[in-house]
Amino acid sequence: MSTVAAYAAPAAKAPLERTTIERREVGEHDVLIDIRFAGICHSDIHQAREGWGEAIFPMVPGHEIAGVVSEVGPGVTRFAVGDRVGVGCMVDSCRECDNCRAGREQYCAAGMTGTYNAVGRDGEPTYGGYAQGIVVDENYVLRIPDGLSLDVAAPLLCAGITTYSPLKRWGAGPGSRVAVVGMGGLGHMAVKIAHALGAEVTVLSQSLRKREDGLRLGADHYRATSDPKTFEELRGSFDLMVSTVSAPLDLDAYLSLLGTEGTLVNVGAPEEPVSLNLFSLIGGGRSLAGSQIGGIAETQEMLDFCAAHGIGAEIELIAAAEINEAYERVLDSDVRYRFVIDTATI
Ligand SMILES: [Zn+2]
Ligand SMILES: [Zn+2]
Repeated sequence: MSTVAAYAAPAAKAPLERTTIERREVGEHDVLIDIRFAGICHSDIHQAREGWGEAIFPMVPGHEIAGVVSEVGPGVTRFAVGDRVGVGCMVDSCRECDNCRAGREQYCAAGMTGTYNAVGRDGEPTYGGYAQGIVVDENYVLRIPDGLSLDVAAPLLCAGITTYSPLKRWGAGPGSRVAVVGMGGLGHMAVKIAHALGAEVTVLSQSLRKREDGLRLGADHYRATSDPKTFEELRGSFDLMVSTVSAPLDLDAYLSLLGTEGTLVNVGAPEEPVSLNLFSLIGGGRSLAGSQIGGIAETQEMLDFCAAHGIGAEIELIAAAEINEAYERVLDSDVRYRFVIDTATI
């Protein structure tokens, strides 16, 4: 066991505070990662405040982890000390079900093991990336290409793969018209990746406040959803819409923006159920879909793609003492576009 400094929420809705946690011994197939940076994902806040149901406390959030390998187990073949690596939303899965075998570990039939707020297959609670070190099985560790700085790479491990996976699956590319709903941590990554894939990209955001950023990051168009004209003028305009917002949407209104057989994919998750008129799908043969992060191999593909295209997240680097304030700012949509904790300050 090793003791590492961390930031934890001691109870639901309680402020996060500095503490120490124990990491397991480095096992046969484990790597010990010296965490350098950890992104703050909106889902960290949902979970630390039990917005998604009962959670495990104390909680060390963080599933956008970037660091350097500092020790490897004797059976490790893919990594060596000094390698630049990342860890995303999962640290294990059953490895035997159809989904695991197909590289869709995020949909493991037995349930993937979350990087935090989960119980590992050893029966111990998992603690995430707001910490100075983590021990992870090498099969759930990603390689961060040399061209990517660790700080801007960290958010790719959740925000990057969460948007890359549906964009690839539903064919974003040259000739496709993609709308990104929401211009936050996930949305700004969706804009960059969809643009790099060659799609025509439109941002649909509540206001035009972040318009200049959106256009600079690769959007071709930027429209305000608070303006009713947006819904009139863009009716039937998109092949694919990726909704990154975690507030409930007027799904009927958004679905009307899809062209024939278009798809609205949700990667943001409101805390309450949503409703819609099914005629919004039936007319036009439209689909409403969901997508959750991506598999391990696909996450590596995304990192390699981002490195090849010079894509990192737009970040605000903060000290650990600023985490609670950062949470409030995320809830106010007041971050451009991802807070990243410098874990040396823990
Ligand atoms: Zn996340
Ligand atoms: Zn499985």
